[in-house]
Amino acid sequence: MDVSRRDFLALAAVLGAGVGSGSGLLAASGNPENITASDIMDFKPTGKATLLHICDMHAHLRPLYWREPSTLISAKELVGTPGFICGERFSKYYGLNTKLDRYFDTYVDFEPLARKFGKMGGIAHMKTIIDEVRRDRGRDNVLLLDSGDTWQGTAVALKTGGEAIVKAQNLLGVDVMVPHWEFTYGKERVMELIELFKGEFISQNVIDNDPMSDSFEELIFNPYTIKEVGGAKIGIIGQAFPFSATAHPRHLTEGWSFGVRTDTLQGYVDELRSDKKVDCIVVLSHDGFSVDQEVARRVKGIDFILSGHTHDPAPRPIVVNGTVIVIAGSHGKYIGRLDIDARGGKVHGYTYKLIPVASNLIKADAAAARFVEDMYAPYKKELDAKLCKTEGLLYKRDTFHSTFDALIGEAIRNETDADIVFTPGYRWGTTLLPGDDILMDNVYEMSAITYPEVYTLDLKGHTILQLLEDISDNVFNPDPMLQQGGDMSRLFNATYDITVGNGYGKRISNFKIGGKAIDPSKTYAVSTWGGNLQNHPDGANLREKKRAVYDIAGDYLRGRSKVSVPMESNVRVTDMGCGCPDLKGKC
Ligand code: MN
Repeated sequence: MDVSRRDFLALAAVLGAGVGSGSGLLAASGNPENITASDIMDFKPTGKATLLHICDMHAHLRPLYWREPSTLISAKELVGTPGFICGERFSKYYGLNTKLDRYFDTYVDFEPLARKFGKMGGIAHMKTIIDEVRRDRGRDNVLLLDSGDTWQGTAVALKTGGEAIVKAQNLLGVDVMVPHWEFTYGKERVMELIELFKGEFISQNVIDNDPMSDSFEELIFNPYTIKEVGGAKIGIIGQAFPFSATAHPRHLTEGWSFGVRTDTLQGYVDELRSDKKVDCIVVLSHDGFSVDQEVARRVKGIDFILSGHTHDPAPRPIVVNGTVIVIAGSHGKYIGRLDIDARGGKVHGYTYKLIPVASNLIKADAAAARFVEDMYAPYKKELDAKLCKTEGLLYKRDTFHSTFDALIGEAIRNETDADIVFTPGYRWGTTLLPGDDILMDNVYEMSAITYPEVYTLDLKGHTILQLLEDISDNVFNPDPMLQQGGDMSRLFNATYDITVGNGYGKRISNFKIGGKAIDPSKTYAVSTWGGNLQNHPDGANLREKKRAVYDIAGDYLRGRSKVSVPMESNVRVTDMGCGCPDLKGKC
């Protein structure tokens, strides 16, 4: 890798290394595969403005392991397109050529590579990278943009009502953000946290929908902001998660309505271009990667979409109708760097790279590391308590099944004696390696939400089947605008076949509960959390006893010596190779 002497000296200074000693650039843990911190930071600058992009950090102050999916199934029309590629297909599509890239972007050889390269992300390591880019480009020439899902996802976030994470954003110097899970703290708390946040919180698609309100149909937040960066005037339009009202309990955003709102988005693009005379238009988005590809087809004149929500790492931008779309993975594992040459009302060039936050290779910023310790201090005893060991890999992401979700399902069923357990298909969580201790902190990483109650109720077999048809129509809808961007709800103590290419109501077959074919007319006890199933109109006998999912899982694990969860999925896909199908739906 060609790093100039000047860059080398500068990098060495920032990373606290001994100048003149290449190995000194690395953190103490060594130099696997000869990839160095300077390789990680190496970048071909363009123009004078740099946008640093983070998305879907989900409140991970500390580094973590994060395994990408080994099964990523979509509607047939979308198979093999960016957002629905995984494993070896992903490596091939993006031309990955280092083990570090494969470790960050795919599930392949995850465990040995995790042991080699260590954990990902963590704000102390992110801070080192962000500061290095600012030093290199000049503080006023760099913006740090956050596509949201930042305030929620860990115990420290939950226990401080989001405050610890807003402080972390302030420490990193986040300039602009958009929301999704942020709303799960409720409207009032969101407004308090915005007060604490030193950057700007923008959204063009959140509107007052209370007819009794004085501000009926008015915007709740500023729709856009204009920043002068590196001599360029950059207009940044915010796009909150379009399904925020329906994906979470309604009372959290009562009186607000959402939606993609491409018509008003087009209006703001035109306003920025014609009236405000910006040099470049950026949409900072939490729409999801495939929705944003559709937005780029429908809205004219957007230069860049900095996407988020669907957690895709995309090592290379994709270009749709002249709009460049980037997305920077999840959980703090990447910082996207986008250099822009924008002058005279247009973009003349750009360069882009995902910078992997490899915590063994990048030195932690000392002040940020102390900050993380301080945020954990009040809860350390509870959160760092070792509950038990895991014999196998515990992970979250895959289309239908994950071992950590299966473990949570097992814990819930142990407590409630439900026939079947539904666990939400969120894409956030954590990964533990075989032999790792499961800490209470890890349990929260899988379940830290503001509405954690586990409900148990009775549902008829036919209602359960109908539910699964509804959920699969959302996940596998060929129209990206109708996808909410999650994985399938996970079922525990049930198995089924799915034919993804069948139409609505015809995808699910061979459904079994506890090994026996489901009886449509029979009543089953169902436990559920993190969704809306407890309010199903056909539900009956909603039990009074409700405990938080993290308490149930923590109690189940505490005191066991070890747990062992099989890797085999409980779902069989009949019409395409299960795993990471190639174009046309075949492995
Ligand atoms: Mn999201």
